Amino acid sequence: MSEPYDAGPVVALRRIAFLLERAREDGYKVQAFRRAAGAILPLPEKEVRERAVTGTLTELSGVGASTAAVIAEAVAGVLPARLAKVEEELGGPLTTGGGRLRPLLRGDLHTHSDWSDGGSPIEEMAFTALELGHEYLLLTDHSPRLKVARGLSAERLARQLEVIDAVNAHVRGDGDSDGFTLLRGIEADILDDGSLDQAPELLDRLDVRVGSIHSGLKDEAAVLTRRMVTAVSSTTMNVLGHCTGRLVGGSRGTRAESSFDARAVFEACAEHGVAVEINSRPERRDPPGRLIALAAEIGCLFAIDTDAHAPGQLDFQVLGCERAEAAGIEPERIVNTWPREQLLSWARRDAEPRPAGERVLGDTGTPG
Ligand SMILES: [Zn+2]
Ligand SMILES: [Zn+2]
Repeated sequence: MSEPYDAGPVVALRRIAFLLERAREDGYKVQAFRRAAGAILPLPEKEVRERAVTGTLTELSGVGASTAAVIAEAVAGVLPARLAKVEEELGGPLTTGGGRLRPLLRGDLHTHSDWSDGGSPIEEMAFTALELGHEYLLLTDHSPRLKVARGLSAERLARQLEVIDAVNAHVRGDGDSDGFTLLRGIEADILDDGSLDQAPELLDRLDVRVGSIHSGLKDEAAVLTRRMVTAVSSTTMNVLGHCTGRLVGGSRGTRAESSFDARAVFEACAEHGVAVEINSRPERRDPPGRLIALAAEIGCLFAIDTDAHAPGQLDFQVLGCERAEAAGIEPERIVNTWPREQLLSWARRDAEPRPAGERVLGDTGTPG
C-alpha cells in the first residue's frame, strides 16, 4: 500500500507548496507547507526523526498537524499521503500545448519577490527556478512609482543587488560559473514622458530591464503610443512587459486592452531590439493572439515570461509557450531560449553601438 520515498521531509513539504501554488490554491495553505519546511530545515536530521517518533513535531513553531504528518511519513521513508494526493490531483501538465518550446527556454525574465509585491523571498524564487531546470532567472521587482506594489527605491534596489550576489555565491558554492545564475533586473514603470522609473546609473548596473505601463491605461491611443515608442526608442529597456495591460479573469476582475498603435510600437521594438513579452499569467494572456501575430510579422523578438509573484507560478511558462507555438514563433526569436552570455550581450546592446546622446532619458522629442 505505502510507496517508498527517500527525498526527505523538506523536499516533500516544498513540493506540496509548489503544486498547490501552481494550481492557484489558497495562499495561506501554501505558506503553511513552506513554513514547516523552513522550521525543520535548520534542525539536525536526528532531532526531526526523534520528534516524528515521539509525536512532538507540532511543538515546533510553524509545524501543524497536517504538516507534521507529512514530515513523519517522509522521515519513515514512506511517500506522504498528502503529497501523493496533491501529485495525483494537481501534478499533471498545466496544458496540452507548449511542449515543443518549453524545453528550449533557459530562463525567465519577469519575476517578483517579497521585496515588492511577490509572496516569497528571493532565495525561494531562485531555488525553485533551479529545480525547474532554469539556467537563469531575472528578478524584476517593481520600481518606486508603483507604491501599491512596494516598488523599490534606488537605495533598496542597490541593496537588493548585494542580496543577489549573495544568493549567487551560495547557489554556486564551488564557484561554478556555468551553473544557475540569478540575474539583476527590474520591471520599471514607463512614466508619462516615456522615461523609465529608476535612476539611470542603477538601470545601467542591471543585466536586463523590463519596462511596463501600470498607469494611465485608459489614456488616448496617441498618448499611450507616444509613451511606449519613446520608452522603446530612447531608454535602456530590453523587454516590453504585458503591453496591453488587459486582464481576462482572476481575482482582480477583467480589464480591457488599452488602445495604442500596436504597429508603431512593435516597429520601434523591432528597430531597437526590444523584445515583446508574451506574459504567461493565465489572467493576463498578454498580448492577445492578433498582436502576437502582428509583432511576429513585423519581425520582433519575444520573451516568454511568467511574471511570477510566487514560486509555483514559475511553472506558468508553458502557457506562454503554447501561445507562441500557436502563433508559429521560431525559437531563435525568443530571447530566453538563448544562452546566458548571448542574452546578456543582447541586453547590453553590444552589437549595435549607438550614437552618443541617443540614450538620454526623458527625451520628449517626437518619437520615431
Ligand atoms: Zn507589471
Ligand atoms: Zn510584473
